[in-house]
Amino acid sequence: MRAADVIIIGGGIVGSSVAWHLTEAGCRSVVVIEREAHQGKGSTGKSMGGVRAQFSMPISIRMSLYSIPFFGRFEEVMGHPSGYRAQGYLFVATDPRHMLYLRENYAKQLAVGLKTVHLLDPDDVRQIAPEIRSDDVIGGSFCSTDGFVDPHSVMTGFMLKAMERGVELMRATEVIGIRADARGICGVETSRGAIAGRVVVNAAGAWAGLVARLAGVDLPVEPLRRMLVPTEPFDKVAHTSPMVVDMGTGFHYRPEGRGILMAWNDPEETPGFKTNFDHGFIEKILSRGVSRLPVLEEAEVNPKRAWAGLYEMTPDHHPVIGPVKGLPGMYLANGFSGHGVMHSPATGRIVADLITTGHSHLVETEPLGVERFAEGRLLHETAVL
Ligand SMILES: Cc1cc2nc3c(=O)[nH]c(=O)nc-3n(C[C@H](O)[C@H](O)[C@H](O)COP(=O)(O)OP(=O)(O)OC[C@H]3O[C@@H](n4cnc5c(N)ncnc54)[C@H](O)[C@@H]3O)c2cc1C
Repeated sequence: MRAADVIIIGGGIVGSSVAWHLTEAGCRSVVVIEREAHQGKGSTGKSMGGVRAQFSMPISIRMSLYSIPFFGRFEEVMGHPSGYRAQGYLFVATDPRHMLYLRENYAKQLAVGLKTVHLLDPDDVRQIAPEIRSDDVIGGSFCSTDGFVDPHSVMTGFMLKAMERGVELMRATEVIGIRADARGICGVETSRGAIAGRVVVNAAGAWAGLVARLAGVDLPVEPLRRMLVPTEPFDKVAHTSPMVVDMGTGFHYRPEGRGILMAWNDPEETPGFKTNFDHGFIEKILSRGVSRLPVLEEAEVNPKRAWAGLYEMTPDHHPVIGPVKGLPGMYLANGFSGHGVMHSPATGRIVADLITTGHSHLVETEPLGVERFAEGRLLHETAVL
């Protein structure tokens, strides 16, 4: 039977980062199992690629403080581009409650060590995003090292370097069972035979709940459809624009190619494995969009170029990272709730640290354990887009 020290289920950006970080820690007997014939068919290939450190919880800020500089030197380390563009994230406040929230987050971000974030007055906001309607804007927050990456390229860079160091990627192979004995995890069953191993990492994205069930683990990760709409080429928004977030509606956009890419969290969306693009969404997003970005009236949208993918949501919008208590060898790296690209470097580092040394200096991992749901210790991140 084939065997590996570590078996990773899922070859998206998270599985790829875990694989590379394991090789960095000296562990080279690693197999990554990917159901699809190509990497990136899950959420990674559908992502908006936004990366930011402007969060409300120290644990999320810390993960960004590792990840964003990592994207900055990615090409040097991997020999492959990350596509990182430090164009910033601009949060636009139109209600005193937004400003209070930004101010509280700002204090937390500074306390954790973020140096590139600033609170803004309405004139500062107008200067950074002159194209928005700003008559009701009362201020904002901007972090210049936030920005965007190319998720597919990051995933590929991690995996190619990991493979150069001996990691094996098995494509078109589905994990259909997880085996355990009296000592804990002892391997997996796949559509192409069994693989023995004492450590298994669940990096199965939106499908993580189903994979966890194969090991008898109850993991509350739900798929939630998320749709993105690009415009046709359009020169009314500068290509150097940051990601602009209208806190009043949640509408946000960033430059993409010669147009812009728009997102909005539809509160009517319900959980499920839905990846079809709903044409009715265009009207919904444009009505929010035009109200903040009036020049959108002049943009064209081709519904055929819009797409949908899956967020992997947990009840508290925080990931589940770490070992499963009572099942030695089973590790989870799931439930990123819309932040799996930006936090993929930190996640890889934390999981590799936990597997190779039993602890991680990057963040305190105990609060991220799956046990928090049963024990009622939820972590509430409110800065979810
Ligand atoms: C529209 C959209 C916009 C987003 N925008 C952002 C953003 O701006 N910034 C950000 O940080 N994040 C964003 N996200 C979230 C981000 O894309 C995800 O959190 C991230 O890609 C998760 O990576 P992953 O590797 O865990 O999952 P995936 O990329 O889904 O990879 C999981 C892999 O596991 C494989 N798999 C599943 N089950 C099995 C099995 N049984 N056997 C073998 N293989 C299996 C799947 O085929 C898949 O390839 C967005 C997501 C969407 C959908």
